[in-house]
Amino acid sequence: MSTLRFHAIKESLKHKPLVIKEKQRRSEIFGSNVFGEAIMRQYLTKEALAGVMDAIQYGKKIDRVIADHISTGMKEWAISKGATHYTHWFQPLTGATAEKHDAFFETIGNGLAIEKFGGGQLVQQEPDASSFPNGGIRNTFEARGYTAWDPTSPAFIYGTTLCIPTVFVAYTGEALDYKTPLLRALQAVDSAAVAVCKYFDKNVKKVNASLGWEQEYFLIDRDLAMSRPDIVQTGRTLLGHSPAKGQQLDDHYFGTIPNRAMSFMRDLETECMLLGIPVKTRHNEVAPNQFELAPIYEEANLAVDHNSLLMDVMDKIADRHNFKVLFHEKPFAGVNGSGKHNNWSLSTDTGVNLLSPGKTPMSNLQFLTFFINTIKAVHENEELLRASIASASNDHRLGANEAPPAIISVFIGAQLTATLNELENVTNGKLSPEEKTDLKLNVVGKIPDVLLDNTDRNRTSPFAFTGNKFEFRAVGSTANCANPMTVLNAIVAKQLIDFKAEVDTLIDKKSMKKDDAVFNVLREYIKQSKAILFEGNGYGEAWEKEAKKRGLSNNKTTPEALQARVSKKTLQLFEELGVMNTVEAEARYEIEIEEYTMRIQIEGRVLGDIARNHIVPTAVRYQNLLIDNVKGLKDIYGDDFKKLAQEQLNLIEEISGHIANINSNVTKMTEARKKANSIKDETKKAIDYCHKVKPIFDDIRYHCDKLELLVDDELWPLTKYRELLFTK
Ligand code: ADP
Ligand code: MG
Repeated sequence: MSTLRFHAIKESLKHKPLVIKEKQRRSEIFGSNVFGEAIMRQYLTKEALAGVMDAIQYGKKIDRVIADHISTGMKEWAISKGATHYTHWFQPLTGATAEKHDAFFETIGNGLAIEKFGGGQLVQQEPDASSFPNGGIRNTFEARGYTAWDPTSPAFIYGTTLCIPTVFVAYTGEALDYKTPLLRALQAVDSAAVAVCKYFDKNVKKVNASLGWEQEYFLIDRDLAMSRPDIVQTGRTLLGHSPAKGQQLDDHYFGTIPNRAMSFMRDLETECMLLGIPVKTRHNEVAPNQFELAPIYEEANLAVDHNSLLMDVMDKIADRHNFKVLFHEKPFAGVNGSGKHNNWSLSTDTGVNLLSPGKTPMSNLQFLTFFINTIKAVHENEELLRASIASASNDHRLGANEAPPAIISVFIGAQLTATLNELENVTNGKLSPEEKTDLKLNVVGKIPDVLLDNTDRNRTSPFAFTGNKFEFRAVGSTANCANPMTVLNAIVAKQLIDFKAEVDTLIDKKSMKKDDAVFNVLREYIKQSKAILFEGNGYGEAWEKEAKKRGLSNNKTTPEALQARVSKKTLQLFEELGVMNTVEAEARYEIEIEEYTMRIQIEGRVLGDIARNHIVPTAVRYQNLLIDNVKGLKDIYGDDFKKLAQEQLNLIEEISGHIANINSNVTKMTEARKKANSIKDETKKAIDYCHKVKPIFDDIRYHCDKLELLVDDELWPLTKYRELLFTK
């Protein structure tokens, strides 16, 4: 066995579960490293607290004097918890989180020093931002960007650093991060939804989008993972033969969590409690060494921050347990990949979940209004929604028979389908009193009972209604949820604005009663959005054909899917809502399309390197052993040797065949890369990488994997699937 592989396996066997002791109840430690309301009450003046609360609830600006009060309180608290540094914590378009630590410590002359943290430092910072992706925004203007405090996501202490969640924008005002457009989209959906809520309840002042994500991941022994250059550099295996036993016995899903993984999870959960991330659920997933973690849902902006923070914390805690967490959507061929379901809903400051059927016909009409508007929004913007989850790594999942297809559709279950069918027959124009009574009693009034047993779950649907929320299942496990959440909330906002305008027109111009107007508009929406509703098997080929007939898009690759990010319709939608202007939207597109190219480029280089420098030399070495063997047989048996050496001779030839194929394909891939690299237009370049470079990976892999089965296990340099996936 190669030294590296041997060493890795030997080390991995030494790793035992750490003993994790939880001394306090989780409810007692929850949020103790967060500058939340309870702690603010202890550390802030009345005015400062009121300032923060107003900013959180109503988006009011915090003035400089108040900011000074807040920063002083925050600093006192942070220092009392052992913090020495502070940082503006933000989410640049790299997909990771960014932080630059500054000490509170400052000198004041005469050899004296103090701890200082002023309002200015809390509210705004200017990190040297020239090395973050900006899609060309800052080349044309000044090269500076700044971070600004987002008071709606509380500051927290991680390690010995006070982290202040911030937005990241260019000096000219364009967003350079994930959070800024998300906050704008959340604001848009808030005001659009409040306006619609007024039809049903005048007391509603604010509507929050909520998000509950479910994070899937693989947990691999660190030494084993580190022995694989492909995992280290690309987050996934680029080759490796399937193990004899994979997931076919279905013995992992919901099974007993292995001890080492369990101790990692408990350690992680404790850290999450301190950080105020309300994690609740943990279980084994379908593939070996694959797991899932889910929190209790929260306001969407906070939930997005918590997911980004969680991914970071997971990496760090995994280190302590000698694990490597793989977030990649498809780290191993032949077993399930990972996703990140985004459960989404809207709720009012009066405590009503707008996607949960209520107790009265009126509240159910409100439910149906939001339910049907969401369906219509998805129907009209299915391509943009698809684009919001597009990435090189998620391409491996979508449509790969284990995850939702690249076709967006909405599953609502049999009962709600029946309700919509009835509503579709509502009279055109004013409703008769009898019809209204019938609707109230038999259609709208019946929803709560029927939904209680609405447990049928169509796992193949990318966007499913699950009783009191929609579940966007096509989101990838590496994704920053801000991207799909920005799009979803923006399209729903736009839809609600249009809805309100149509209803108001019927009320004003046709002097319809409010209910009649609502029913009339909803009826038309149901008719218009039918194509997006699908209750069948989303994995089947039949659905692809059917979806095509219905005019739904099926953008299987990222370069294709991303075009919807810069369509006229999208640019107009974002501009109109104030979510992104054209410069921002186009910059984002450029970043995403370039990132796609770079990911495939890196994978190509790594694969070429492994194939030529690891696999081929190993195959040659084994072939030499065979040749020696054949020579030896000839020495002993003379002309009779052939009978005895036939299998070896066959093997020698077979190995030569694979080596030749690997070499010619690596050359072909390198040439294809060179050609793609010479293309100036970024879109065309990405398309070339997608259709000319990437397909060659499969050919190279095929021959490498065949060699893995032929070559002496003792010589094989790369840690094998069975070792990566089944070491506990
Ligand atoms: P599953 O069976 O699909 O895992 P769960 O009922 O466990 O579904 O819920 C998954 C996630 O959905 C959890 O994070 C949960 O908090 C979240 N969730 C529940 N209700 C809502 C809601 N109204 N809005 C957003 N997320 C929600
Ligand atoms: Mg779920």
